[in-house]
Amino acid sequence: MALYVQKFGGTSVGSLQRIEAVADRICQYRQQGHDIVVVVSAMAGETNRLLGMALELDPQASRREQDVLLSTGEQVSIALLSIALIKRGCAAVSMTGDQVGVRTDHQFGKARILECQTESVQKQLAEGKVVVVAGFQGRDDENNITTLGRGGSDTTAVALAAALKADECQIFTDVDGVYTTDPRVEPKARRLEQITFEEMLEMSALGAKVLQVRSVELAGQYRVPLRVLSSFEQGQGTLISYGCEQDERPLIAGIAFDSSVASIGIQGLPEGSQIAAKLLEPVADDGIDIDMIVQSTGSCGSTELTFTVQRSDYARAVMLTQARAESLEAQSFMSNDSIACVSLVGLGMKHHPGVAKSMFELLGDAGINMQLISTSEIKISVVVDESELQDAVRVLHSGFCLDQKDMDDPEQLLNSA
Ligand code: ADP
Ligand code: ASP
Ligand code: MG
Repeated sequence: MALYVQKFGGTSVGSLQRIEAVADRICQYRQQGHDIVVVVSAMAGETNRLLGMALELDPQASRREQDVLLSTGEQVSIALLSIALIKRGCAAVSMTGDQVGVRTDHQFGKARILECQTESVQKQLAEGKVVVVAGFQGRDDENNITTLGRGGSDTTAVALAAALKADECQIFTDVDGVYTTDPRVEPKARRLEQITFEEMLEMSALGAKVLQVRSVELAGQYRVPLRVLSSFEQGQGTLISYGCEQDERPLIAGIAFDSSVASIGIQGLPEGSQIAAKLLEPVADDGIDIDMIVQSTGSCGSTELTFTVQRSDYARAVMLTQARAESLEAQSFMSNDSIACVSLVGLGMKHHPGVAKSMFELLGDAGINMQLISTSEIKISVVVDESELQDAVRVLHSGFCLDQKDMDDPEQLLNSA
């Protein structure tokens, strides 16, 4: 019999009725003889509610105390699910991240897992119990509670699956797998039977929140068999695959987008090889991640630099960069927090030139203006105005023949761009 780590997200445990349905499902797996470790998120909306209260008291609320507060959401879910399982005669025990031994670094709000101990979980499994673990939380080496960043329960599940050498890590959510794009934005999106690890990593990094990007990184590092499935329906979901041949892949696996980005642009910087490093130093020192950077030479040889950050870091990044730009005697400073980033992702792109051209033509024909462009071997990202995001996703989805109706002829995928 197998050992499964099964993660249920916020919507899946969003009400008592849904918790009962999850409990029924877990009981079925137990009756088949499998060992089950369950990882749960806070009930839908709870993390936002808690965060809202902290920020209402103080917009600069202590990050340590925010983590103490946010971690309570998952603690409610593990207790409720365990109660529902025990009521069904299914032995179960709830455990917080700390009780399991999820050790992290010190970065409150976006801590990284350093180690996931397994003794306590294995002891409970050996006693025949379902172990219900609080996702999204851990403890640093100074005994502080930490949280793993939004969507972090996925990462708890994958880390536990790796440490326990589980047969499969199953992420149960409110969609029945990974789609060619978010089906809530493009109803013609199509579920993928499989997606390669590399493609999934890019999709998540570029905004597809169906899996937290750190969970995909960890899965790749430990080769964890990882599957995304529906909490509400039966089905095979989507398997994240490893070691697939590139020429077996379609040109474009999917379209990711991120509507929570913002850009900062500085013009008229003095020339010099160190200028970008100097400008970005305060932002980097503050631990703010920069997603896209475009540098060019402006009129009279001066340097222009534009970069994007997550909107949650925007106000701080503006403050830090503006101060540095002034000290570097830049001529002008612009910032924009109503942009979005749309990306094509596909391993097949590596050996097919012309994808960028087709993408730009499709967007141009639709009258969508591209503000920034960035590429790598298997993705092309463009920044557009946020108001044009949905149109951009739909135009690209149909232009690259990803719509459901096009799948009657899979060859179209290879020939489309
Ligand atoms: P959970 O609460 O279960 O962790 P999330 O809301 O974090 O669920 O992730 C699931 C959501 O991810 C879906 O409801 C869907 O809107 C979104 N999503 C974004 N991109 C994709 C994609 N390519 N495939 C499937 N879902 C996607
Ligand atoms: N509850 C946390 C969040 O809302 C973690 C998670 O759901 O994975 O981000
Ligand atoms: Mg999630």
